[in-house]
Amino acid sequence: MKQEYQRFYKSTNEIRKQQQEVRNARRRKLRTKRLIAVGIVMISLLLVLVGVVFAISHFYHQMREREMATTEEVIQVPPLVGVADMFPDLPISEQFLTVNPYSRPGLALTDTPQYIVIHYTANPGSSAQNNRDYFENLKDTQETYASAQFVIGLDGEIIQCVPCNEMAYCSNSLNEVCISIEMCHPDEWGNFKDATYNNCVYLVAQLMNYYHMDMDQLIRHYDVTGKNCPRYFVEHEDRWEVFKGFVEEYRERYQKDMELDFE
Ligand SMILES: [Zn+2]
Repeated sequence: MKQEYQRFYKSTNEIRKQQQEVRNARRRKLRTKRLIAVGIVMISLLLVLVGVVFAISHFYHQMREREMATTEEVIQVPPLVGVADMFPDLPISEQFLTVNPYSRPGLALTDTPQYIVIHYTANPGSSAQNNRDYFENLKDTQETYASAQFVIGLDGEIIQCVPCNEMAYCSNSLNEVCISIEMCHPDEWGNFKDATYNNCVYLVAQLMNYYHMDMDQLIRHYDVTGKNCPRYFVEHEDRWEVFKGFVEEYRERYQKDMELDFE
């Protein structure tokens, strides 16, 4: 009986041991699986991290390259003086003012033009010639400091009064880095005749393409000082947006011609 018991006891013990071993083996397997899973997760995370770092550095590099390309482009543009020969489709008459302290200081812009600034003459019914002569006479009347690189008349005629690489007295703090355009208008409300409007769109588009400007570099005098100028485009913000839309459309249309011109 005792022997029987001992044998039974032994075999039970063996069974327990075997069970324990099976359990241990299962645990080891589970641990290995867990380790592999953790390893996979870690490697994936590392890969993602490397990917993110690579993407960021790639993006940063591209930004830098684009920045440098734009800067180079701007620098490469030769300074523009008169534009009559440049834009033969436009009725441009170059009548540069006499160099004098009141309307043409004879100072170079400090940089390639950074802005095109649009104005209205605030002198209803006056022609481009009237306005040009007014600027010229300031050297004698000495009543104020005023001028603009361009005046666009009621019939679309364009008079260039100051070279594009020289300063005019028109847009306050931006005088040293901008080209100012005065638009003539028939009445005090300041809306423009089609001829004035259309040639202004055309001239602005050509100048902006030449200087490789972005659309936000086309602004109103109002955007510089808050002055109600050009009145129609200040009091009708939507009309200003439409005008800019036309300029953008013309720029795309003439971009190809400009590129050909500079090859
Ligand atoms: Zn103005």
